[in-house]
Amino acid sequence: MNADIRDLLAAVVEALDIPHPATEGGAEVYDRIRNERATHVVVALRSVLDDKPLMDVEWTTAYLREQLAKHPAAGYVTVAQAHAKLAAGKSWSEAVALSPRCPAAHPEDLTPCGGPVVVTILDRGNAGADGCEHHGARLLASLEGGRPVAKPDAPAGAAIRVFKAAGNLRPFCWLGRGEDQ
Ligand SMILES: [Zn+2]
Repeated sequence: MNADIRDLLAAVVEALDIPHPATEGGAEVYDRIRNERATHVVVALRSVLDDKPLMDVEWTTAYLREQLAKHPAAGYVTVAQAHAKLAAGKSWSEAVALSPRCPAAHPEDLTPCGGPVVVTILDRGNAGADGCEHHGARLLASLEGGRPVAKPDAPAGAAIRVFKAAGNLRPFCWLGRGEDQ
């Protein structure tokens, strides 16, 4: 098999074969994420199957992976995660509880934290929310006139990294509005 095609097929499997959810509530999140990922697979396959494709297979595969990264299989507890916690002696309700995220994580932004809480994101009125670097940057990019302030125990450069990362993000980037068409 052509190596480009093989890689495209690998990306299709990555798109659709995401971990199964442990709970019914998780199943809704899983279904939504998988639907989004399946839509991107269809777009990619249609593009490759076109009589006169605009882009080659390699480009299409890279683009598909980029889109998949925007819809990570996150925001639900997987069967494997639940079993690992049960095996470690946790109760079922403990095993299927989502690990809490930092306060800067928007409820609709299902991505997991990118590390410990290291910054406070202040808005214009100096109201603040503490966050990890990942969610801090995403919140900052969504605020007008916001700024990051490093927590006293934050590693050096945390606030600057958040500031720079926010500069490369759209406001409310987790909504994915119109970015894929
Ligand atoms: Zn976070």
